[in-house]
Amino acid sequence: MRRQAILTGFVQLACNRVHRSCPARARTFSPMGSTLQAVRGMNDLLPAQALRYRRLVAHIASVLASYGYHELRTPVLERTELFVRTIGEVTDIVEKEMYTFRDELNGESLTLRPEGTAACVRAVLEHNLLYGNPQRLWYEGPMFRHERPQKGRYRQFHQIGAEAIGFGGPDVDAEQILICARLWRSLGLSQVRLELNSLGDPAARARHRELLVAYFERHHDQLDEDGRRRLHTNPLRILDTKNPALQDLVEAAPRLADMLDTESAAHFDGLRERLADAGIEFTVNPRLVRGLDYYNRTVFEWISDDLGAQGTICAGGRYDGLVEQLGGRAAAACGFAIGLERILLLLEGKPALADVQTPAAYVVHHGEEAARVAAAAAERLRDLGHAVIVHGGGGKFASQMKRADASGARFAVIVGESEVAAGKLGLKPLREPGEQQLLALDAVARRLAGDPA
Ligand code: ATP
Ligand code: MG
Repeated sequence: MRRQAILTGFVQLACNRVHRSCPARARTFSPMGSTLQAVRGMNDLLPAQALRYRRLVAHIASVLASYGYHELRTPVLERTELFVRTIGEVTDIVEKEMYTFRDELNGESLTLRPEGTAACVRAVLEHNLLYGNPQRLWYEGPMFRHERPQKGRYRQFHQIGAEAIGFGGPDVDAEQILICARLWRSLGLSQVRLELNSLGDPAARARHRELLVAYFERHHDQLDEDGRRRLHTNPLRILDTKNPALQDLVEAAPRLADMLDTESAAHFDGLRERLADAGIEFTVNPRLVRGLDYYNRTVFEWISDDLGAQGTICAGGRYDGLVEQLGGRAAAACGFAIGLERILLLLEGKPALADVQTPAAYVVHHGEEAARVAAAAAERLRDLGHAVIVHGGGGKFASQMKRADASGARFAVIVGESEVAAGKLGLKPLREPGEQQLLALDAVARRLAGDPA
């Protein structure tokens, strides 16, 4: 009893330490003995899901590698300032979605990364990677945003993204769009469409912003609360509204496309030509503005209609000013990020990523010596590239064979007294007819590799 009280007190103390500025949350911490659950909007990936995730990432990584992109891994925590300065103070992410807390040991304000681009640019500058060397990079991992969880929208979610830093031409925008198109094709996702827009240069954006504010001021009475709030902070975001009552108003608003600077217009033409050359279909959506401040010129989204409101599976664009803004020598850049959970939802039930990993062989064994022979044989087969499970926990051969069958393995490898005495292994096909045979390890390996009996 006393021990329990001490432990409870300790947990409460630890909890208060984390949430000192938020006592209401500290009170909701479960007492000892009750079942604890994951944080809302943050999911466990059970083995079959984790395997699908891993396979998806491996597949995307191999496509990215084939275009010359290299992996960059950055920490999940960054200084809050990095995101405030890059994403923008009056964006949804910075205003209300970031997990920000103070490091009590040194007073720094830290934030769990809500996206990958800012950290990628930070790392490139910190390690001087750009010096005469444009970089093609990709990253993958968890991102954190305090949003209302729903299907396809979580508080910890995962992105894989690519960034080409030090490239100014529309060829790289096109390259990244082609990478995505190749991915959807290879994953069997045919119902995905591409929307494009150009945001022009900062001056064009400023001109557009002025006209937009004047327009919405003239129609102030028609705006909703969100719109009024954004009118003077981030009017571009009003164009992005999901409120059906505002659609007509937004439709008739001044368009950035009509006031693009000449260079941005030429860049956009160049991109469209390259996409046409590659046979990539797209629609230009003048209302596509993206939620982050750092974008300019090209912005794009890939959208699936099979995911309801969470239809955007990939979003990207150009951010030519960001490197300089973070203290580097000006370098144009373009990138995109894919929402992995949304891709996995689209892939459910599709053969592209099989649900379970099927081992080549399941090794059953009986007796002390047989167990050691089984372990050594399995290691040797793994050296030769085969996935092999060794039965654990003993039991009769018959029940071990049931486990072998349930594992999905193509073969059972059997190690009993007689096999040990003969210095060989028993091999029995589990997915097709065939007798058990006594074989040397090399012969077993050849059968696992697909050689006929
Ligand atoms: P949305 O409009 O859906 O909120 P966003 O514009 O905030 O998306 P980006 O910052 O562009 O999203 O992130 C790129 C991609 O990451 C999105 O297209 C989406 O697939 C995925 N994504 C973003 N937020 C979440 C989330 N909370 N849960 C799951 N996936 C997400
Ligand atoms: Mg969002």
